[in-house]
Amino acid sequence: RAPLSGGPVPRILALANQKGGVGKTTTAINLGTALAAIGETVLVIDLDPQGNASTGLGIDRRARKLSTYDVLSNEATLREAIQETGVPQLYVAPSTLDLSGLELEIASERDRAFRLRNALKALAADGEGVQFTYVLIDCPPSLSLITVNAMAAAHAIVVPLQCEFFALEGLSQLLKTVEQVRTGLNPGLSIHGIVLTMYDARNNLSDQVVEDVRQFMGEKVYETVIPRNVRVSEAPSYGKPVLLYDLKCAGSQAYLRLASEVIQRERAARAAA
Ligand code: ADP
Ligand code: MG
Repeated sequence: RAPLSGGPVPRILALANQKGGVGKTTTAINLGTALAAIGETVLVIDLDPQGNASTGLGIDRRARKLSTYDVLSNEATLREAIQETGVPQLYVAPSTLDLSGLELEIASERDRAFRLRNALKALAADGEGVQFTYVLIDCPPSLSLITVNAMAAAHAIVVPLQCEFFALEGLSQLLKTVEQVRTGLNPGLSIHGIVLTMYDARNNLSDQVVEDVRQFMGEKVYETVIPRNVRVSEAPSYGKPVLLYDLKCAGSQAYLRLASEVIQRERAARAAA
């Protein structure tokens, strides 16, 4: 998509998997932090009514004035909803529980699938304030209209898969939705990559899952595997990304490697274009 102003065009990646608890939010927070740490300017858009990405980035409920609900219902611009986090160069557009009612409210609007795309276009074109180089969209655990808005707005999808027995279950349905969005709404949409999460080296099953997913999805799977790491799960209760909570832990180091892989893929894609 061509830039509408002189600013950088952000790469827009949606974290999607209709299964809950697979690491979408954790990856949005920590990949976002890692990208910011290596020099990108990052916006996390919280599209889950649960608001875990907002909380995990230190924005508690009382601090959420304007939210993604207001943006998607055309009551506010995305710029107005964006807040700073405790991480330099990392920003968040928080969500609130209102978002769970949005789908019904806009179900009969013609632009219902394009609300986020339009908001992002306006953000890139407003010529004010911070311009982002990466936008990460944290999707809810469903293939609802909200997730479709994310897919219609994104350049590519990042799919977190948990290293557990049913990891691949539901993936074909997700890929089918991506295909439908590509035909109907967003022809440029691609799968950026699949990130295996919560890998447990002590569990043989984890290795089996990694092998199966690599066999099935080939090069789409990032080399980096995110280990199960207690520091990763503790960090959100302090309102901090794990990279700020414990930079040296295995989880932080893995998210830094994932960020450099994401950037490498971007460079390779741009060189091929
Ligand atoms: P989703 O957004 O897909 O529902 P979350 O990112 O919220 O998934 O992760 C689900 C749960 O697993 C959360 O409690 C989170 O703290 C925990 N978790 C995620 N990744 C890890 C990890 N690498 N190590 C340990 N716990 C993790
Ligand atoms: Mg989540």
